[in-house]
Amino acid sequence: MKRHKKILCMAIFLFQLLWGIYATEVQAQETPAMIDQPIIWTENREQLILEYAQTHYGLSETHIVPQAVVVHWTAGDTWESAYWTFYHEDRGDGTLNVASHFIVDRDGTIYRLTEETALNRHAIGYNWCAIGIENVGGVDGKEDLTQEQLEANVQLIRYLHQKYPTIRYVFGHYQQDIARDSGLYIEHVDGYHSIKIDPGPIFMRGLRLNLENDGLIFYPEKF
Ligand SMILES: [Zn+2]
Repeated sequence: MKRHKKILCMAIFLFQLLWGIYATEVQAQETPAMIDQPIIWTENREQLILEYAQTHYGLSETHIVPQAVVVHWTAGDTWESAYWTFYHEDRGDGTLNVASHFIVDRDGTIYRLTEETALNRHAIGYNWCAIGIENVGGVDGKEDLTQEQLEANVQLIRYLHQKYPTIRYVFGHYQQDIARDSGLYIEHVDGYHSIKIDPGPIFMRGLRLNLENDGLIFYPEKF
C-alpha cells in the first residue's frame, strides 16, 4: 500500500514537472519577440485622445476593449520614418496625431509603440475598438510586403487574439467599407472618410490562409 502511495506521489510530481515545462513552452511560443519603442505619451496625448473619442465616437475613453485588428502598410521605406511620423502627439492642427500600436519591419521585427489597448488614430470609424499593425513597405502602392512580415503578423495577431478574446475581426485598411458588416463602424463626423489601398489583397489573403482556423473573421480579399 505504502509503495503504491509512493508511486502515485512520484507520478503526480512527474506530471507537474512536465506540465510546467509544457506550459512554459506554450507561453514562450505564444508571445512573439517584440521591441518596446514607445512614442511620446503625456497628459496632452490623453487629452487629445479624449477629444478625438468624444468628437468621433461620443465616448470618453483613452483606452479600448479590442474587437478588431486593422492591418496597414506605411507607404514608406523604414520603420524609423513611420515611428517619427507617429511620435508626435498633435497632428499640427490641434487634433490627435495618427499612430498605430505596432510597426512590423521588413525583416519581421515587431516594434510596440503604445499600450496594446491605447486608443490610437489609425483607421477612421474603428479606432474605438481596433488595434493597428503597420507594415513597412507599399511605397507607391506596390504590394511588396515580405514573407517575414507575414509570419510576424500571424504570430502577433495570434498573440493578441489569445490575450484579448474579445477580438473577432481582422481586416486590411482597404477593407474598411466591407468591414462595416461587423457592426463596429462608428463615425459621428459627416463625410469623414478616406480611400485606402493598404496593405493590399495579397497580404490579406496570406493572413486569412494562416489564421482562418483561429476563430477569427476575415472578409473576401477582393470585392
Ligand atoms: Zn492604413
